Amino acid sequence: MTILGIDLGTTNSACAIWQDGKAKLIPNRLDKLLTPSVVGVDSNGEVVVGDIAKHRLISHPKETVSVFKRAMGTQQEFSLGKQRFTAVELSALILRNLKEDAENFTGEKIDQAVISVPAYFNDVQRKATKQAGELAGLQVERLINEPTAAAMVYGLHESADETQFMILDLGGGTFDVTLVEFFAGVMEVHASSGDNFLGGEDFTNFLVEKFLEANGLNINSLTIAERQHIYSILNDAKHALSARQTVVVEQSLKQQDKSWTLTREIFEEMAAPLLDRIRFPIEKTLRDSGASPSDISQVVLVGGATRMQTFRSLVTKMFRRMPSGHIDPDLVVAMGTAIQAGLKEKSSDLDDVVLTDVCPYSLGTGVLNHADRHGKQGNIFLPIIERNTTVPVSFERTVATAQDNQKVVSVGIYQGESRLVKNNIFLGDIEVKVPKAPKGKETITIRYSYDMNGLLEVDVTVDSTGLIVNKTIINSPDSLSEEDIKKSQEKLQHLKFHPRDTETNRALLARAERLYESSLDDRREYLGSLINDFEVLLEKQVLRDIEIGAKKIEAILDSIEKDTLF
Ligand code: AMP
Repeated sequence: MTILGIDLGTTNSACAIWQDGKAKLIPNRLDKLLTPSVVGVDSNGEVVVGDIAKHRLISHPKETVSVFKRAMGTQQEFSLGKQRFTAVELSALILRNLKEDAENFTGEKIDQAVISVPAYFNDVQRKATKQAGELAGLQVERLINEPTAAAMVYGLHESADETQFMILDLGGGTFDVTLVEFFAGVMEVHASSGDNFLGGEDFTNFLVEKFLEANGLNINSLTIAERQHIYSILNDAKHALSARQTVVVEQSLKQQDKSWTLTREIFEEMAAPLLDRIRFPIEKTLRDSGASPSDISQVVLVGGATRMQTFRSLVTKMFRRMPSGHIDPDLVVAMGTAIQAGLKEKSSDLDDVVLTDVCPYSLGTGVLNHADRHGKQGNIFLPIIERNTTVPVSFERTVATAQDNQKVVSVGIYQGESRLVKNNIFLGDIEVKVPKAPKGKETITIRYSYDMNGLLEVDVTVDSTGLIVNKTIINSPDSLSEEDIKKSQEKLQHLKFHPRDTETNRALLARAERLYESSLDDRREYLGSLINDFEVLLEKQVLRDIEIGAKKIEAILDSIEKDTLF
């Protein structure tokens, strides 16, 4: 049984399998490793995919489409001659093509796949990708985040403990920045951010604009074919500039010969606004994760546009070191999907890697907006699990009744980022009875537990009576078997303790308190702040941070006890 690893890219796609203990890239029918993510229909009304379609982008622009990955999860339709297709259908055509190529290459029928998706893809976009796989006759065994796939190729999972990789993925149409961390045998996608509308194509568009400007031409005076031709020439110039200092673009347009000299310096100057948009998400990711550039052990480049020298020098300046790009940035994700496929096949040369993911959106509940006296805004969203939290995760928040003598509290369950509940996605609700009391007196504790398969468990406890009501929400019911659900539930069960209640943390605090009581002056003050900091950390409920914090405190307590400190 072979599972096909697939990188379904915005501009290009690629596939690979796990074979003889390594990732093996699969050449397509034209013997190329990259298949352009382009679909068209020919004069017979037949679908053409990949390189053949890409060539027709210029000659038959109305019968060819590209860059449709941006519309995944939307209802947008693309015209191909007389027919109309959604992004899911177009993606399915690419996937079917890759599946056929892989079957020809291996001589085996392939009906299972691991497909990569950008880390910021939301649930709807992920479902759309799965659907595309199913339409192509592939059972999607797992969706893997693109940066995670790349990190695996660079051997993050083989690194020593506590390694952090920064993955920068600048593709044709998207920029994706992710911090992937390896800690105690577990690989985590940490902070991820990016720009959904920034990619190599924007740099080419910039060049087209400047070229037309320099030659006194107006884009509106050009035919579609002329525009696409100019785009292609300047795209080639952009590529050439990755290897050379200067490129001369010579072109005959509207019966006039146009010549334009482009240097790296000019390009960098022109692209400054785009380079700023590259810098911001990198800085944000570092800020969100509390890491500094020197904490990052490797900066990994993914996506064709990371070949641009302007991009590389920006990254080198920011991290004060050269990024790692020795594996083809266009193929690294496909290789990573093959490693994941190998893991799924339970290949003996690949064990020990545990992958974790982040919850790509916030999950929370609605609370009354006291400031809104007329009740126009509705409830305010109270996040319980914040976006980008590593999963599996379990968090709780306590809320109080909003009215005098309230008998019932209805806990709405929502997904989204908006401040107002009505703009977020409603997932379900739980009603609990509370004893009558003045408003604010009765409290309930709402616990959300969420895992990688999209299973959200909500437990609501009425604090005064101890009544617990539970609800499980399955975000993608069709993708989970009974057994999967059971497994997930068991896993979540273990997470349902507040870290302040676990034995080790309680013992550590008790030890610190004891030492505090037996100390004086500076030592007592220091221990007091240590206890306080740890209690604050426990309230944040981030298990990994608690683990690190506990280790630090333990070491400090050890040295205080041995009298080596103070
Ligand atoms: P992807 O979506 O990863 O296939 O990214 C394709 C993008 O990378 C396109 O915008 C290409 O123009 C760009 N690209 C590919 N090769 C190069 C190169 N040598 N120099 C600059 N940009 C490149």
